[in-house]
Amino acid sequence: MTEYKNPNTKFIFITGGVVSSLGKGLASASLAAVLQARGFKIRLRKLDPYLNVDPGTMNPCQHGEVYVTDDGTEADLDLGHYERFTGIPATKNDSVTSGKIYQRVLDKERHGDYLGATIQVIPHVTNEIKNFILSNIDDEDFVLCEIGGTVGDIEGQPYLEAIRQLAYEIGREKTMFVHLTLLPYIPTAGELKTKPTQHSVKQLQEYGIQPDILLCRSPIEIPQNEKRKIAQFCNVREERVITALDAKSIYHVPTAYSAEGLDAEVCKYFGLHAPLADMSRWRHIEKVTENPEGDVQIAVVGKYQLKEAYKSLIEALTHGGMANHFKVKIKWIDAEDVEKNGATSYLSDVNGILVPGGFGYRGTEGKIAAAQYARENNIPYFGICLGMQMAVIETIRHVAGIKNAGSSEFDANCEAVVGLMTEWDKDGIQELRTKNGDLGGTMRLGAYPCILAAHSKVALIYGKEQISERHRHRYEVNMKYEPLLLKAGMSITGKSPDGKLPEIVERPEHPWFIGVQFHPELKSKPFEPHPLFVSFIKAAIDNSRLL
Ligand code: GLN
Repeated sequence: MTEYKNPNTKFIFITGGVVSSLGKGLASASLAAVLQARGFKIRLRKLDPYLNVDPGTMNPCQHGEVYVTDDGTEADLDLGHYERFTGIPATKNDSVTSGKIYQRVLDKERHGDYLGATIQVIPHVTNEIKNFILSNIDDEDFVLCEIGGTVGDIEGQPYLEAIRQLAYEIGREKTMFVHLTLLPYIPTAGELKTKPTQHSVKQLQEYGIQPDILLCRSPIEIPQNEKRKIAQFCNVREERVITALDAKSIYHVPTAYSAEGLDAEVCKYFGLHAPLADMSRWRHIEKVTENPEGDVQIAVVGKYQLKEAYKSLIEALTHGGMANHFKVKIKWIDAEDVEKNGATSYLSDVNGILVPGGFGYRGTEGKIAAAQYARENNIPYFGICLGMQMAVIETIRHVAGIKNAGSSEFDANCEAVVGLMTEWDKDGIQELRTKNGDLGGTMRLGAYPCILAAHSKVALIYGKEQISERHRHRYEVNMKYEPLLLKAGMSITGKSPDGKLPEIVERPEHPWFIGVQFHPELKSKPFEPHPLFVSFIKAAIDNSRLL
C-alpha cells in the first residue's frame, strides 16, 4: 500500500444512494467548507466510475460542463464546486476515472511490472484506486473523496471495495463513511418515506461498508421519530442522521449543514477538539443574495439545453451580481433560434449579452448575429472562447467587409480568421498538434499567462497588466488580422507573453464589448468574484438604467 506522508490525515468517503443527481458534489463541497470553517486544512477528490479517461471528449449535454484546472486537467464539474466552496485550486491529483485507473494498470502490465501475475480487478484495479486516494497528500487534516454514481452501479463496485479495504488498513478511527440519500415525501400520505434509504444502506453493508453519517435529502424537516427509525434500521447513531433540506440556494447549504450539527458530529467521531465553525462569510453571502437592490437581465446565447453544461458560467454571473448587490436573471436563448428568427426578437429587452464557449458549427451564425446586435446597439457584450471568436468574425465580416470570414473549425473554404493552432508554447516547451491527431486531452488546456495592453479597459478591470487564466480550445484568432481589426474598431488588448496568440479583444468605443479566448468563469468564486464578471454585470446594470 502507498504510504501517505501525514498519518494524522483523516479520510472521509462520500457515497450516494437511492437516486442520482442528489447533489453529492455540492454536499461534499459543503462538508469541506464547514470543516474549513473550523480551521481544518482539507482536500477534495472525485473518483468517477465511468470508462472515459477524462470527461474531455464527453458531450456536455450528457455530462455537463468539463471543468479545467490550472494544471490543465479536464475534470468533472464537481471540481468546480470544490474550488468555489473552498478556494483551494484542484489539480490532476484530485480527479480520476475508471478509464484512467485501467490505463495505469494496463501500462504497468505492458511494462511487465506485475511480474507474471494475472491482472484482476481485485487487487490490481483496487490497489490503483487506493494509490490514487493516498498519493500527493501533504499536511491536510482531511481528505474528502466523493465516489461518483449511485451505490449498486456495477461500475462503482471496485471503488467501494477499495475504500472498504482502506478503512480496514488505515483504521476506522481515521476513516469515515458519509452516505447521501433521499427521503421522498408522499403528499397523499403526508409522510416522508425511509424505505429507500434503508435499502440503500443495506446495499452498502453488503459491500462491507457501514455508514457513519447519513445525510438525508428531504423537502421537509425530518421528524425525530423518523430519524430514530432510520438510525435503528441502518445502524447509525440518531444524531448522525442529518437532515439535508432543500436549500434556497447552493450557498445556503454549508450553514444549513453546520446548524444540523454535521461538523460537530465529524469532530466527535474523530475525537477532535476544534473551535466552532466560523460561518460569518457564508452568512454574509446569504444576506447579499437574499436582499438584492434590483434585477439585471443577461442573455446567454448558447446551444446546450442542459444547464449543467454552463455550471461555472451561471455561478460566475451570480458572483458578478452579488458583488454589485444585484440579482442576475439569465435569459437562455438558443443560438439556432436567433439564426432562424433574427436577434431583435430575443435581445431587445436584455441588459447584457454573453456568448459562451462551444464546439462545432451548429448555432454559430446565431452567435455571430448576437455579437452584431450587441455591437450595433451598444449593449454590453461578453464573448467567452467561442464567443470571442464569433465576435472577431462578426467584425471582420460586417465592418471590415470580408464576407466569407470564418473559422476553419467549421468551414475549410472560408477565409480563416480563426484557425487551428498547430504549435504554441507551454512553460518554455513547444506543443505541436496536427489536424488528424487525437481529440482527447490535446487542446490548449489549463493556465497560461497573458499580458494586457497598458491603459486598456481590461487592464483597468483587472487592476494589473499580467494575468493568468485557464484555457480549453483548439482554435485561435490569427494574429495577422490585427491591423484590419484595429481599423474596424476592435483592439487586441491581451496577448500571450511571446505576442503570438491573441487572448483578449475589446472595442474601445463601445460601452462594454470584451471577448476573451480563455474561460474566466472557471476561476470565479463567491468570496472572490471574477473582475470581468463584476465589471460586465456593472455595465449591464448601467445599461438597464438607460432603458
Ligand atoms: N471550438 C472552439 C475552439 O476549439 C472554442 C472552444 C471553446 O469555446 N471552449 O477553439
